[in-house]
Amino acid sequence: MKFYSTNSPSVKVSLKEAVLKGLAADNGLYMPEYIPVIDPETMDNIENMTLSEIGFMALKPFFCPDIPEDDFKALVEDALSFEMPTVKVCGDIYSLELWHGPTLAFKDVGGRFMARILSHFVKGQDKEINILVATSGDTGSAVANGFYKVPGIKVFVLYPKGLVSEVQEKQFTTLGENITSIEVEGTFDDCQRMVKQAFLDKELNEALTLTSANSINLARLLPQSIYYHHAYAQMKKAGNTKDLVFCVPSGNFGNITAGLVAQTMGLPVKRFIAATNINDIVPQYLESGEYKPAPSKATIANAMDVGDPSNFVRIMDLYDSEHKKVTANLTGYSFTDEEIRETVKRVDVDNKYILDPHGATGFKALENDLEETEVGVFLETAHPAKFPEVVEPVIGRKVEVPTRLQAFMNGEAKNISMKADMQELKKYLMNK
Ligand SMILES: *Cc1c(COP(=O)(O)O)cnc(C)c1O
Repeated sequence: MKFYSTNSPSVKVSLKEAVLKGLAADNGLYMPEYIPVIDPETMDNIENMTLSEIGFMALKPFFCPDIPEDDFKALVEDALSFEMPTVKVCGDIYSLELWHGPTLAFKDVGGRFMARILSHFVKGQDKEINILVATSGDTGSAVANGFYKVPGIKVFVLYPKGLVSEVQEKQFTTLGENITSIEVEGTFDDCQRMVKQAFLDKELNEALTLTSANSINLARLLPQSIYYHHAYAQMKKAGNTKDLVFCVPSGNFGNITAGLVAQTMGLPVKRFIAATNINDIVPQYLESGEYKPAPSKATIANAMDVGDPSNFVRIMDLYDSEHKKVTANLTGYSFTDEEIRETVKRVDVDNKYILDPHGATGFKALENDLEETEVGVFLETAHPAKFPEVVEPVIGRKVEVPTRLQAFMNGEAKNISMKADMQELKKYLMNK
């Protein structure tokens, strides 16, 4: 399989190049040259396959033989180390719980795959790869834990001092080993600027192999299609025959793009719903046909505070930029913080199910939009214990913290501090 940039579809690169570069040199996003179709017999039998079997089957056409099949099979099994159950919340609405991984959010799936795929490509090379990542919270923890103890790779997480929640900070500062946390005296934008400048610095790039673990990387995005197949398999096994609708709480729209890829591969999904907070750029596009990016607004579902979703160009690419084609398969809803709080409270009282603020948008969109003939699955993208300051006042009690999160909270933070200055970062990296 070759990959092209959305900005120059005729130029194709190998898997290795697409994965090591992340973003194409022309600033486009990589796409697979075609979307493979799963044979109907396999699809008919999918409810009898395990999660790793589904993962290997669905991803093999993209990643093999560039990664030899046996190696890839082992990689898939190692990456998929936790379950992803589909749980009934009420009526025809189900929650696909993607928070059973190490950092309690769906980004663990992409993070763990990307680390192992990069590690495969650097094996046998004498040069280590250095991953630089700027984080406002969630990305840093998923990337750091995904790459933790992966051979041949070092990770440097830059985060703004005092601006990351304690739960999030502990999830990357307590690891040690090949993970270094850098507390920057500045904002998230300063961290991001330092990382960008580091990638542009000639001297630094000659001395070290630098890569980004940005969410636009295909090694993070494509593996996310697995859990759509897996959720379908679980619904089929439970004897569900209604038309399947997926609803995806969305920020940069990577998660939903992976779902659209799964559907193009032949997964029998009737349609998709994108749920957002008040950063409603895509719902507005679906309504009007006009894409108007805007500065992001802060909300209580902050992992979706995105004003110019990076994967929108991939959705345009999948549907030849035809608004009609997009709206035939995709509906959008946006919700205010008040609506999110109301939903978390009501579902806790009525259904004894604690939503996180992101998943709540997905639940509410299904409630609004689901038809008689349909069954809806929303992606529960994080565990509510990651957002105690939002969830606990709403439900009026503490959220039980899973033991793996408690373990992080008890760990000792190790970090280094620096000024928001790229020269200081450069000096530090050159001396490592
Ligand atoms: C990152 C994130 C999202 C948004 O996912 P995208 O792929 O950017 O659309 C939603 N919920 C949570 C909890 C996240 O961490």
